[in-house]
Amino acid sequence: MSDASTEQSPSARADAPLIRDGAIHGVCPTDGAGLPPVPCTPISEIEGIVARAREAQRAHAARDVETRAAMLHRFKAALLARGERVAEAIVLETGKPEAEVWLHEVVPAADLAKYWSTEGPALLASSEPELDALSYPGKRAVVERVPRGVVALITPWNFPVALPLRTMFPALLAGDAVVFKPSEHTPRSAALIAEAAAEVYGEDLVALVQGGGDAGAALIDAGVDAVVFTGSVATGRKVAGAAAGALVPVSLELGGKDAAIVLDDADVERAARGILWGALANAGQNCASVERVYATKGVAPRLRERLAALAKELVLGRDVGPLTTPAQLAIVERHLSQAREQGATVLSGGGRPEREGLWLEPTVLADVSHEAECIVDETFGPIVPVIEVADEQAAVDAANASRYGLTASVWTRDLTRGEAVARRLQAGVVMVNNHGFTGAVPSLPWTGVGESGFGVTNSPHALDVLTRPRTVVVDTSRGKRELWWHPYTPALVRIGRAMATLRAGRGTGLGAKLRAFFQLLGAFAKRWKV
Ligand code: NAD
Repeated sequence: MSDASTEQSPSARADAPLIRDGAIHGVCPTDGAGLPPVPCTPISEIEGIVARAREAQRAHAARDVETRAAMLHRFKAALLARGERVAEAIVLETGKPEAEVWLHEVVPAADLAKYWSTEGPALLASSEPELDALSYPGKRAVVERVPRGVVALITPWNFPVALPLRTMFPALLAGDAVVFKPSEHTPRSAALIAEAAAEVYGEDLVALVQGGGDAGAALIDAGVDAVVFTGSVATGRKVAGAAAGALVPVSLELGGKDAAIVLDDADVERAARGILWGALANAGQNCASVERVYATKGVAPRLRERLAALAKELVLGRDVGPLTTPAQLAIVERHLSQAREQGATVLSGGGRPEREGLWLEPTVLADVSHEAECIVDETFGPIVPVIEVADEQAAVDAANASRYGLTASVWTRDLTRGEAVARRLQAGVVMVNNHGFTGAVPSLPWTGVGESGFGVTNSPHALDVLTRPRTVVVDTSRGKRELWWHPYTPALVRIGRAMATLRAGRGTGLGAKLRAFFQLLGAFAKRWKV
């Protein structure tokens, strides 16, 4: 799979700093082999990269939207032509099972590009709101969607291709440039995106900044026009502060602690399989992973049993990959041992297999405390904690008692009830009898509440941070002045008062309105005599 050198022992490499001597190093999470270094972008070069992106953006914005849509189509083709290399890089850097790489990263890229290149031009079209002809005679207004300019795109490591494209595609279609700072854990996958983009757009319109957090921070300060950030809550707070300092709009897609509620009447087989997939895809390193299962008492024993049995059938490597980073493995192991100390029962998994790499068995836990770290904080690992609750209300209360609110699911055979319960959950995406798959559906907004952030990717809503509305008004009237221009006369004051009375609605009697109407006519005549 890789030609990476393995001269150093895996553990020595895992302990070494990821970024050293001006390059990103790292180990393959699957087998601990060292990865070939990738040079960091010198911080001193970032301002120049943004300046060149701005130049390229001006030319790109001047292209009509159909041309930009055709270019997007070619970008997609260039990326898919590299499909095998992209898949190999993702497996090498993240350890994802191959099925996930194709279905979660590569195929969605094609769907995304199709959505934006076909639907996007209409979504970016100008609108012409009607202006009231009496108040604003002879005036015509157009509201356009104008590209923001240079968008800083800062992304995490868990979906190194699918996530950046969710912003890159609509931004490029809208006429923006993108300066892309990928995670320092996945620089090789990112480089392939940049390589494919360069084939269509040249080097500057989609520019790559490789490096760690200091490079991300420098990028926000380098004069960009908007920031789209996906990552942890802690970094999100810093990014929000930096964007506030630079006075540029920011989109934040942060962590999650998704709940799945299983009600007594659920189809246990479907719920168990769906929840297990929702919890273990990408080894649980998914912002929308099921990290808390609340099962009502009539279903909890059967659900626990089925979850444990199905988890035991999963094959490491084929179905569930390793953790991607040593730091992530340490967090997950800490959550696991703390839950055990607090009396949780391990129904399946719970250990590390004897092989190189960052592996942890898929683990189903029962009897977990509501206060356990693995219930309160983001775990981002292959752990499925099940908590038995008295009834539907207790499940909803427990699900909503979280700082996070990205996605959530309800499992029941009663679809009407399921929908009603789903609407009571504080989350950006709520589902009945499924979980979290809509990140791959370009037409549906992906967003959260609370510490999950307020950014939106996918859907027309994603355009709000990537474009700004521009209002253009053309006045065709030939009059020498407007009613509301100087001088301010007593007649103008009477006009204002009469207009307010006429707009007052039902609370004002008919008599008062008639009086106001005649006052208005009289005042108008006087006003124009001045
Ligand atoms: P992270 O916050 O550590 O890093 C994210 C990115 O920010 C990286 O590129 C990093 O180099 C950069 N960065 C670090 N410090 C910075 C700074 N001061 N200024 C600017 N950039 C800086 O997150 P991670 O560990 O890479 O990713 C995991 C997190 O991402 C999880 O919390 C997960 O839930 C979240 N996530 C959220 C979504 C979503 O859609 N809500 C999707 C995927 C991942």
